[in-house]
Amino acid sequence: MRVLVINAGSSSIKYQVISLPEGESQVQGLIENIGTGGPSTHTEALHLLVEQIGDVSGIDAVGHRVVHGGSRFVEPTLITPEVETHIEELSSLAPLHNPANLAGIQAAKDAVPGVPQVAVFDTAFHQTMPDAASTIALPTEVASTWGIRKYGFHGTSHQYVSRIASTLLGGDSSTHKIITAHLGNGSSMAAIKGGRCIDTSMGFTPLQGLVMGTRPGDTDVAVVSHLLRNAGLSLDQVDTMLNTESGLLGIAGSSDFRDITSRAEAGDEVALRALDVWAWRIRHYIGAYAALLGGLDALVFTGGIGENSVLGRREATAGLEFLGVALDPYLNERRSSSARYVSPSGASVAVMVIPTNEELEIATQVAAIVGQAR
Ligand code: ADP
Repeated sequence: MRVLVINAGSSSIKYQVISLPEGESQVQGLIENIGTGGPSTHTEALHLLVEQIGDVSGIDAVGHRVVHGGSRFVEPTLITPEVETHIEELSSLAPLHNPANLAGIQAAKDAVPGVPQVAVFDTAFHQTMPDAASTIALPTEVASTWGIRKYGFHGTSHQYVSRIASTLLGGDSSTHKIITAHLGNGSSMAAIKGGRCIDTSMGFTPLQGLVMGTRPGDTDVAVVSHLLRNAGLSLDQVDTMLNTESGLLGIAGSSDFRDITSRAEAGDEVALRALDVWAWRIRHYIGAYAALLGGLDALVFTGGIGENSVLGRREATAGLEFLGVALDPYLNERRSSSARYVSPSGASVAVMVIPTNEELEIATQVAAIVGQAR
C-alpha cells in the first residue's frame, strides 16, 4: 500500500509518499510560501504537489496530520464531511494549525480524488490520560463549557518512539514504564505505562511544560495579569512574548540549541544559564513521571535536540543516578542515526536515543484503518 502523508501548515505543506509494510519513503518534498510568493492557495499547492509526485494513481490513501482533535478524536479517523466540521469547530483551540490542516484536507480531496483520506491527530495518543492528569482545577462549569483541560501534543512522535522502545526492551510490553522526551524547537515529555499515555507536559496548548526554543513552558499564569496590569502590554503582546520571544531565545538571544551549546562550551555565562534552566525542567519532569509511573524501565530521547545533542542529554540526566538513570559517556558521544542505547549495559533504566518518524507513524496508522475498512 502507498500512503501520501500531508502535513499542512499555514504557509507550507510537507509531504511524503510511504510504501507499506516496508515503511520506505519513496518521494518527499516541501512546498513553501503559500500565499506569499509561492502558490496562492492550499488548493494550488496541492496541485503542485501532485505534479511533483508525478503519478498519483498508485496512491491508496492520504493521511493528514491534524494538530488538535480535542476530546472527541482518540484515534486516526476516516475523514467525512462531519469530521471536517468537527476539525473546524476545534479551530478555536488551535487557531494557527487546525484551519491550515483543514485547508490541506479540502485541497487533497480534490487533488487526489477517490481514495480514503484519514486524519491523524497530535492530541489522540494522550487521550488515555486519567482524569486526575488531564483536569485543570478551574471551576468545573467553566472548564467544561470552554473545553479547558490538558490535551497534550506531539502524540504521534511519543507513540512511535515508545513503541520502538518497548520492542527494544523486550518482555511483556504491558508492564513497561517509559518516559519519552521529544526535544526540538517545540518540546514535550510523556509518561507511558503499558503503551498508554498517563501524563504529558504540554497542556491546553503547546505552551505548557518544558523550556523550549521560544516558549517558557510552565509559568505561573499570574505573570500574565501582572504584565497586563503593570507593564503596559496588550494581551496580544503578552501572547506573542509567550509564544515567540521566550524560552532559550528569551534568556540567551537564540532559540537554536546548537548555538546555545557551542556558546556554553566556550564558557558564555548567559548560554550556560539558559542550558541550566532548560535541563532543570527536564529533570523535574523525569522525577515527576518516575513517581507517577511507580518506577521506570526506559527514558527515551528524540527530536532534533534529543537525537543529536550529546551535551543536552548529559545535562538532562545529570544527578539522576539515584533513579537508575545514567549515561555511558562513550555511547552518548557516538554518532548514529539508528535507535540505540546510551546507558551502560546492565543499568536498571535503559536510556535510549530513538529518531522519531511522525510521517511513518501516520502512514502506519492510516494503513491500519484503511485495511480494516476494506
Ligand atoms: P521542530 O520542533 O521544529 O521539528 P527539531 O526537532 O528539528 O525541531 O529540532 C530543532 C532543534 O534541534 C534546534 O534547536 C537545533 O539547534 C537542534 N539540533 C539539531 N541538530 C543538532 C545537533 N547536532 N546538536 C545540537 N542540537 C541540534
